[in-house]
Amino acid sequence: MPRSVYLSHPASLEHDTGSHPERAARIVAIEQELARHDWLGMERVEAPRVSAETLTAVHPARYVRGIEELCAAGPGSIDADTFVVEASYEAALRAAGGAVRLVDLLLSGEAPTGLSALRPPGHHAEPSRGMGFCLFDNVAVAAQHALDAHGLERVLVLDWDVHHGNGTNAAFHASSNVLFVSLHEWPLYPGTGPASDVGSGAGVGYTVNLPVTAGAGDALYASLLEHVVAPLALAYRPQLILISAGFDAHRDDPLADIELTESGFAALTGTVRRLGAELEAPIGAVLEGGYDLRALAASTAAMLRVLTAPDPPAAIDVPLVPEARSAAARLAEHWPALPAV
Ligand SMILES: [Zn+2]
Repeated sequence: MPRSVYLSHPASLEHDTGSHPERAARIVAIEQELARHDWLGMERVEAPRVSAETLTAVHPARYVRGIEELCAAGPGSIDADTFVVEASYEAALRAAGGAVRLVDLLLSGEAPTGLSALRPPGHHAEPSRGMGFCLFDNVAVAAQHALDAHGLERVLVLDWDVHHGNGTNAAFHASSNVLFVSLHEWPLYPGTGPASDVGSGAGVGYTVNLPVTAGAGDALYASLLEHVVAPLALAYRPQLILISAGFDAHRDDPLADIELTESGFAALTGTVRRLGAELEAPIGAVLEGGYDLRALAASTAAMLRVLTAPDPPAAIDVPLVPEARSAAARLAEHWPALPAV
């Protein structure tokens, strides 16, 4: 029985952002928690550097060169809250490389599930613009790699970081090969991701933004997963499921006002595991945000307990809340095959 994998690299700790909330201690907190539980039986794998070819399938070479030069001249910054030092470039190459290696391990059948736990995070990095603590969009690079190197035609990226994943949204806006689904607090940084943004061109309908307001919690998120995301995924039939796994929607997180708990994250993961089983699709999580160290570590472990379990948890009856009903009704315009709710 292949084991789940945990991708990491010490370079993540050298991306020194000082007293910034997106800091090396985040990785240390996660790893201390997992070490206490014998890594939940996961096999630990060192993240390689992403290759230039794989990286430039999402980020133009000119942008990559700009990041390399900015880091080499560091310390410096891309914007008011995205800082780099010299070692940040190596960290960013490994963060993208870990997500790509995770995809390779999943699609070769060497692991059914896994987590790429590196930093800097990625989902705010647009193809030609780093921002919001992110340099390269790790999950987008990994999804594109699944298409280019493995010949996949349908990849689901589920982004439950509390902030909208504007980078991934931008990378696949006009593509039907990646179904991008984002649950995020609204209004909140970066200000993108209204429900009306459904993609463009051939990608219309394949960008699904599910904004929620401050105070939303486990019940609403579970309802959106069960009654909106799950039927959508069953209609799309992804060959790979990637989670942009941020944990800043936790109720203790200092950067946002969503009220998820550890068991809420476990429940979301449970829905994804049942989808993976039904679709015979492997599941890879890529770390994004999460800034309360205790909440981050506990929530990551809660997700991984579900991802590493031999079987998905049994389905539970999740009430359909009004916000999920209206989101499902909106989706029906582009997905007429979805069951009426
Ligand atoms: Zn975030």
